[in-house]
Amino acid sequence: MNKYEILNKYFGYSSFRQGQEDLIDGILVGKDVMGIMPTGAGKSICFQVPALMLSGITIVISPLISLMKDQVNSLIQCGVPCAYINGSLSETQITRVMAEMLRGKYKIIYVAPERLETQSFLEVCGQVDISMLCVDEAHCVSQWGHDFRPSYLRIKDFVATLKKRPILCAFTATATQKVREDIISLIGLNNPVTAVTGFDRENLYFEVVRPKDKLVALRRYLDLFSGRSGIVYCSSRKNVDALFEILTKEKYSVTKYHAGLPRQMRKENQDLFINDEKEIIVATNAFGMGIDKSNVGFVIHYNMPGDIESYYQEAGRAGRDGSDADCILLYNGADVRVQRFFIDNPEENDSLSDKEKEEIRRLRLKKLELMVEYCTGNMCLRHYMLRYFGEKAQGRCQNCSVCNGNETSVDVTTQGQKIFSCIKRAGEKENRHTVMCLLKGKENEYIKGKELQKIKTFGAMEDVAESQIMMHLDYFISSGFINADSKGRLSLSEKCRAVLFEGKRIRKLLPKAEKNESEKQSNLDVKLFLKLKLLRKEIAQKSGVPDFIVLTDAVLKNLAVMKPKSEIELSRIQGIAENKVKKYGAVFLNLINKHCS
Ligand code: ADP
Repeated sequence: MNKYEILNKYFGYSSFRQGQEDLIDGILVGKDVMGIMPTGAGKSICFQVPALMLSGITIVISPLISLMKDQVNSLIQCGVPCAYINGSLSETQITRVMAEMLRGKYKIIYVAPERLETQSFLEVCGQVDISMLCVDEAHCVSQWGHDFRPSYLRIKDFVATLKKRPILCAFTATATQKVREDIISLIGLNNPVTAVTGFDRENLYFEVVRPKDKLVALRRYLDLFSGRSGIVYCSSRKNVDALFEILTKEKYSVTKYHAGLPRQMRKENQDLFINDEKEIIVATNAFGMGIDKSNVGFVIHYNMPGDIESYYQEAGRAGRDGSDADCILLYNGADVRVQRFFIDNPEENDSLSDKEKEEIRRLRLKKLELMVEYCTGNMCLRHYMLRYFGEKAQGRCQNCSVCNGNETSVDVTTQGQKIFSCIKRAGEKENRHTVMCLLKGKENEYIKGKELQKIKTFGAMEDVAESQIMMHLDYFISSGFINADSKGRLSLSEKCRAVLFEGKRIRKLLPKAEKNESEKQSNLDVKLFLKLKLLRKEIAQKSGVPDFIVLTDAVLKNLAVMKPKSEIELSRIQGIAENKVKKYGAVFLNLINKHCS
């Protein structure tokens, strides 16, 4: 099979993305390669495709064990023979994997860098044909990067122990010139074919806000994005704990993650988020490196990070499956003081001289300055970051809060008409919650008791999320279309007449993210999408894997837009590997057909 056939058969894609092909071709002619590509650009394909074509095994070194299980599960689902070895496995399991490795069962093995120092692993490596060694998150090798891991420095020694030098490849999402040089020299890449792909992530919308009260702003965004999976980043464990507590009390579907939590709890919480059992995870930057969750729909920074690299990497965890996603940064001056404190009180690092420490301090201060400029300046946010990474970017992107202006307006006349009519028909004496239930088409004892389910507008907004209906109600109340009396009963004001009977339209001013949200819901058959999600959940639970490993949200959305009728039409949907069409095609098609008829 050639590389295109492999791409199609195992991964379900019809073409390579920018940069992927150069690196794959490099590997296939036996050269070392280095890929510098932003999160979500598709680094994994660059080594997974050639790994399936080379004669021997590929060893992938990855720093976070949390990631390995998902990546390996996902590959196994696609029919790729692979396994991982790390501290989460028992000794017996490790011995079994290594025995299978010797028997030639696997094409790809994921390991944590520490594994390269264990004798038993070295012995096995001495006996198998290793075609390629792939270093993921390669910036960890450099003290100048933002995530130095000393165990990465041993990779070079490991390679020297092998009888035959494998092809070496290194991948990272962020690398300044100095880090790139370190990657080459400290891992020992030999004149690598290098691909630096555009850092632009068109599907991400960037917004910076400077709210008076961050908590109020956060709630507003969480309500706006409800139903999507998202990360809220804080700069300290204390903030994570406090926010988690507040949001839990307020009944948000939320979990938390930071390095101070017991290991078991970290793992459980992370799984809750990855498996879509909790919508939101509040976390420090300890969460996320290597997390391969493709359907993160938003990333909100409750605090500003210390540099653009960190910000772009963390925000970049949104929208990995290519769907539109929102990256919101809530900024205030206190964030700068916290970051200054981190710089002035760095972690101990004995391997650095005083002079080097001072140089790193200066560098970090400079980076902080540029981060603050991002938050407070008036330049196009996307282009500001692209220039930071050394790309040419001029003009305006029209997809960030600076280009669009935070405030924009949308027409909410139809929503208004439905809501006003519902309030009227219900006798102008029901409260917010009941009106929401009526519009949503939700029966309860109270509604049945008063036979309100019989009114004409019952279920008039059944496709709209409850939180969105509430938001509309609040808007119409605050803008004087609806009156609420002391008991919370809603009635119509004079202003409604013109809308209901004289064709007057209502335009609502709103932040751009909110506009995106209402536009995004237009082509999608929301009901079908929800049904597909439920079916996926059933399948995932039976197979014991996270939902998105069965099919990503982006694929489900495509299905809910395109509604394929046959396996052939299904296989044309981007992102469904041949294996998956075979495995799940029939059940999904069945559901779609039923829904459409
Ligand atoms: P990275 O490691 O660079 O952050 P991944 O390798 O996880 O990114 O890929 C991000 C997403 O892009 C995945 O859902 C992956 O399946 C998808 N992807 C990768 N290559 C392609 C391609 N050629 N065409 C379409 N989607 C792709």
